[in-house]
Amino acid sequence: MDIAFGPIPSRRLGRSLGINNIPPKHCSYSCVYCQVGPTHEEELIRRPFLAPAEILRQVRARVDAVRARGETVDYLTFVPDGEPTLDFRLAESIDALRELGLPIAVISNASLIWQAEVREALSRADWVSVKIDSVLPAVWDRVNRPHGVLRLADILSGIKRFAREFEGQLVSETMLIAGMNDGIEDCRALARFMGEAGIGRAYLAIPHRPPAVSGIRGPDESVVLQAHQILSTQGVEVELLTQYEGDVFAFGGDLPAEILAISAVHPLRESVVRALAEKAGAGMEVVEGLLASGDLRRLEHEGETFYLRRLSRSNRDTRQ
Ligand code: SF4
Repeated sequence: MDIAFGPIPSRRLGRSLGINNIPPKHCSYSCVYCQVGPTHEEELIRRPFLAPAEILRQVRARVDAVRARGETVDYLTFVPDGEPTLDFRLAESIDALRELGLPIAVISNASLIWQAEVREALSRADWVSVKIDSVLPAVWDRVNRPHGVLRLADILSGIKRFAREFEGQLVSETMLIAGMNDGIEDCRALARFMGEAGIGRAYLAIPHRPPAVSGIRGPDESVVLQAHQILSTQGVEVELLTQYEGDVFAFGGDLPAEILAISAVHPLRESVVRALAEKAGAGMEVVEGLLASGDLRRLEHEGETFYLRRLSRSNRDTRQ
């Protein structure tokens, strides 16, 4: 099994070299949107998977090969085909990778974060993302389909505790699913939790790859905008992960590209779009062109006009 893959362009982490420390599909959840497929047997007991020395050997080889091509690596990221904290030796593996001198990230579903040893392992990383798809037990149950022993209250208090203790950068990720966790009350409850937990940065995503359950899809732009606004009002910095990140990365330069790149991450108020156009010595015809081509959407929210890049629902890998 290839342990190291990429690097993949990630807006959050730059050129992120992925580490698959868990073979498919050992997980404590069976999310309806999982791109790895259904979890046949959910697991809760942490156990050793791959030896830290083997992880280090394969990651080092990959980093050397990437550098030999004249490319760079910005982050080493644990983003396996399962839940990384199920690996009993995660802390050891992070420590072993330190000799490569690169910052380390872990993308976790946070389901085991109520355990002190899991928080300890995660605290070795520089950047941690925790999955919070819902703070409402019934919704969590439907979206994440957790192992029967797990309790959402334990997970949420574990996240709060980790947020207090962790010295690195903690972010959250929420996958929005149409009709499941994208309602106003869901988003308000999530926003309140973020505020209480002190999580300063939240990422909102939609499914991009074929989900474990057919028919599961992300909401449309107006609902994504609504979720963005609700979270923002709680002082949370919210970014959208609703595009293939490589595409967002590639933009820059001319005005249409700039509008698309920014509105892929932050819905743009009309006044901001006008200011951007003015600065570039252009008029709103550029925006009209993007609307006509279908790349941009104009939306009304609470009496204000926003522009959002049309959501991409490609099948490309957006795990990071
Ligand atoms: S999306 Fe992540 S947490 Fe959910 S079932 Fe798949 S691997 Fe597990």
